[in-house]
Amino acid sequence: MQQKQTSTGLIWFQNNLRVTNNSSLFDCCKKHDKVIAVYIFDKHIFNNAVFEFPKIDKFRAKFLLESVTDLKQQLANLNITLLSYFDYSDVVISNLCKEFQISEIFIQKEWTSEEIEIVNHVREKISSEITIAETYDQFLYHPNDIEISFADIPKVFTLFRKHLEKNIAIRNEVKIPKKLADNLIDNKTEIPTLHQLGFEKFEQPTFSAFPFAGGETSAHKRIEHYFFETKKLGFYKQTRNGLVGTDYSSKLSAWLANGSISAKTIYYKVKEYEQQFGSNQSTYWLIFELIWRDYFKYVSLKHGNSIFKIGGILDKDYDWNSDKEKINNWINGKTKEPFVNANMLEIQQTGWMSNRGRQNVASYFAKELEIDWRIGAAYFESILIDYDVHSNYGNWMYVAGVGNDPRDRKFNIKTQANRYDANHKFQNLWLQKTLF
Ligand code: FAD
Repeated sequence: MQQKQTSTGLIWFQNNLRVTNNSSLFDCCKKHDKVIAVYIFDKHIFNNAVFEFPKIDKFRAKFLLESVTDLKQQLANLNITLLSYFDYSDVVISNLCKEFQISEIFIQKEWTSEEIEIVNHVREKISSEITIAETYDQFLYHPNDIEISFADIPKVFTLFRKHLEKNIAIRNEVKIPKKLADNLIDNKTEIPTLHQLGFEKFEQPTFSAFPFAGGETSAHKRIEHYFFETKKLGFYKQTRNGLVGTDYSSKLSAWLANGSISAKTIYYKVKEYEQQFGSNQSTYWLIFELIWRDYFKYVSLKHGNSIFKIGGILDKDYDWNSDKEKINNWINGKTKEPFVNANMLEIQQTGWMSNRGRQNVASYFAKELEIDWRIGAAYFESILIDYDVHSNYGNWMYVAGVGNDPRDRKFNIKTQANRYDANHKFQNLWLQKTLF
């Protein structure tokens, strides 16, 4: 009797660090008898800098390590081995293809230049017979469903949102089947330590607004806490401009950014909450914000590398400066605005800043100090725990007046501080407390 030929699929994890509702993992398991998983801490990223800021600093590095550690366990529960390396992706993937006779590689589809470059390097190194199956899996509304070509994505968010809400259904979740135990392979690789990635161990201030660990287990715990245990979701719209504490907003962005949780899973959890406890403006508003997140992804699909250019997607010609002293004062919380300083100290010490804070410090940087907004965006890219290329550059462009905001606003920092931190609780927390 002829033996059935086994095929081996490689699931290459990047910004989709979960087993729940992961389309690439689902496809790989469906199509291939044997499934191997890999995560690479890519040296192109870890050894690189933008405007002198490392592309990834200690906060996100730690969160990423926690996320990959959790992923390894979740995959083991499905009898899938996660190999992990601190190396160059093209080197690792081409070696794995030879060692395990990989016939297909599965990845989440990315489209920004650096991400494409990494995949292209891999493509050049592997046999042309190996296919790379790329799937969009970071959206709430899938790009293949939206019925608008990327070139025609509306300039105004509201038009886009209304079109989606009226016409497009959110796809169902996929459930990953468990492999048989003989799918596991001998694993001699180890997840690198923070030290090996180039960072020293550090402590977080006890009053950090983001004291959470990375990984899909803690993402699900967070949803459980914020939605079902405390029912804070039901008050989100009233509290979302808060500045102090863990619960003024969902805090889901960091898990979303590295894909430990999918936007669709959050959507269906909101629906579950609404079934049990009723819907209101707040439950809707969390979904509304997830559509903003989608929107910035569509903006970058439409405009490509323009989101990284000084003139932004509007190709505006402003007179920017790059004064080192002003930049350092902004970073170190030494401007003339206490509200900006408190926010900048928060991000410096925790990798986190609220949405209200981000809008104010970015507006101050671009509109008051008139410094090249891309330098501020690069600092955020380095230090933010929830850095997401589309949300970061999209929001920075928006605030700097080179993006989608038709009103081109400038925040009055003092008015903002009075409105959102009237009793100075937030400013006192960061300006008066010494570290730890
Ligand atoms: P919630 O208020 O609970 O919102 C729920 C989710 O909706 C968020 O997790 C996020 O995924 C999405 N969301 C909310 N507001 C926005 C927004 N304005 N744009 C896009 N998505 C949004 N967000 C990132 O995820 N990564 C970034 O790198 C990033 N950089 C930013 C830079 C600037 C200058 C500004 C003004 C905003 C930036 N944001 C970024 C958007 C926003 O500040 C964060 O998503 C939000 O503060 C995260 O907190 P949360 O999860 O508690 O949000």
